[in-house]
Amino acid sequence: MDRYQLFIDGKFCDPEKGVYRYTYDPCTELPIAEVPVAETADATRAIAAARKAFDSRSWSGMSVKERAKRLYRLLDIIKEHEEEFMKLEAMDGGSTIKKTSMMDIPVGMEHMRLLIEAAERIPSYEPLPWIDFPSVSWNFVNREPIGVCVGIIPWNFPFMMLVWKVAPALAMGNTVIMKPASDTPLSALLFARCVAEADIPPGVFNLIIGSGSTVGRELCVSPLVDKIAFTGSTEVGREVMKMGAETIKKVTLELGGKSPSLVLEDADFSVAVDGCLFGTFFHQGQVCESGTRCFVPESIYDEFVGQMLAKIKKGIVLGDTMDFGTTMGPVVSKAQYNTVMSYIEIGKKEGAELLCGGKRPAHMDKGHFIEPTIFGNVKNDMRIAREEIFGPVLSVIKYKSLLDAINQCNDNIYGLAGAVWSSDIQKAIEVAKQIRTGTVWINDYHLLNALAPFGGYKQSGVGRELGTYGLKEYTQAKHIHVDLGTKRETKFWFDYIFND
Ligand code: NAP
Ligand code: MG
Repeated sequence: MDRYQLFIDGKFCDPEKGVYRYTYDPCTELPIAEVPVAETADATRAIAAARKAFDSRSWSGMSVKERAKRLYRLLDIIKEHEEEFMKLEAMDGGSTIKKTSMMDIPVGMEHMRLLIEAAERIPSYEPLPWIDFPSVSWNFVNREPIGVCVGIIPWNFPFMMLVWKVAPALAMGNTVIMKPASDTPLSALLFARCVAEADIPPGVFNLIIGSGSTVGRELCVSPLVDKIAFTGSTEVGREVMKMGAETIKKVTLELGGKSPSLVLEDADFSVAVDGCLFGTFFHQGQVCESGTRCFVPESIYDEFVGQMLAKIKKGIVLGDTMDFGTTMGPVVSKAQYNTVMSYIEIGKKEGAELLCGGKRPAHMDKGHFIEPTIFGNVKNDMRIAREEIFGPVLSVIKYKSLLDAINQCNDNIYGLAGAVWSSDIQKAIEVAKQIRTGTVWINDYHLLNALAPFGGYKQSGVGRELGTYGLKEYTQAKHIHVDLGTKRETKFWFDYIFND
């Protein structure tokens, strides 16, 4: 069994207390690797290394082109380990091998490439518009890195979330300390092995594996850290914001969601039925942007729901995640399994109609599997429609008027994403504009464009990731004013304080 170490200051090392633990495959419930258990002291060491690397200018002082060249080299090394990444990612978090080979790893690598390229296009020098000052001056913005950035990520897309934090932070000249979720550290540990082979100076990328409440906390409160980029639940995000507040850290938060999938009367069933199912059940519903509230017009409700149920029966295959024929794996852990099951009980008690699923598949006795579950006749104020379940549970809500449906879509504390399904594109765009979320797909779901901003309205987050919007979150804009009037007599405003 492979044993991984922490990666601090360019070196692999044991955690100070020497403690290791197993990480498990949620499909087989068997241990797959030994991983370090870092404590606060390890986090402190990683912070010091990242601080020293940033302040030495070994990375921030390099040209964007030079940094990009080294990051492309890192990408080549990752590519050499592609298959290992696909397998580890599937085993560690319960993703199917089909998903990690078709999506997580290739798309993650593609996003990394696109983000590095986009960073190269962001000018460090930005001229400012002319202002009629009393003296002639030259004004410009110098785009500079923020400094030491902490990345804290969840377990649902470990490799992709790592890339979304590390690539922009490093490309823009920052140094990084990453803390993956305790349930899924393996792809990050393999990533560190790739960094060690690449030509990236020590301390520029550091990896800490440890619990959020100890190590994560230390990373968020340290005065030596300049920015926290957090992806996870709204509950923890709120704490992170508070911890960062003490030293006024730059904070970006990508949090939870309860996204609506709004079916219009003229939707093409062939795409909307499959799309609403994909929007919810992709990766067992453990996706922040999952479309877990499906709004369907009363006039087509029975037909639409009937087609969804038939499709689930025919098309979704639960099973061994290492089998390419499997389309749905287990949820990530026993704790998550229990949470999802408790929401299913809540749904039944609230009076929603359980249309399918709601239990463990009869033929599987190992692994944290839950059948794809659909509740019909859900009301938007039920807890299963208001709270993020983060599992394979879809709430279908019947609506009468479109205006009322749009209001219900917006009646939620979250605002991450959503979809509109319609054959009338112009109408769909008008509806999309009224949905208060950071992303709206029209006749599609989950397709992420690395150059488009991604983030949340309301309690789904602060700031944006991806694209130029996301890259700039890892920079500060410094105004430099160069006064070209070098003579004292050109500067009458100095006399605001003199009277001689
Ligand atoms: P979580 O419990 O909030 O944990 C996220 C990360 O924060 C983990 O690395 C966790 O470490 C760490 N953490 C926990 N407590 C902490 C603390 N007090 N201080 C600092 N760090 C702490 O979320 P999760 O259960 O892993 O992931 C599911 C959530 O992520 C869902 O709400 C989902 O919507 C959200 N998500 C959002 C996006 C987005 O882009 N908006 C993307 C993916 C997921 P441990 O693992 O050690 O506890
Ligand atoms: Mg695991």
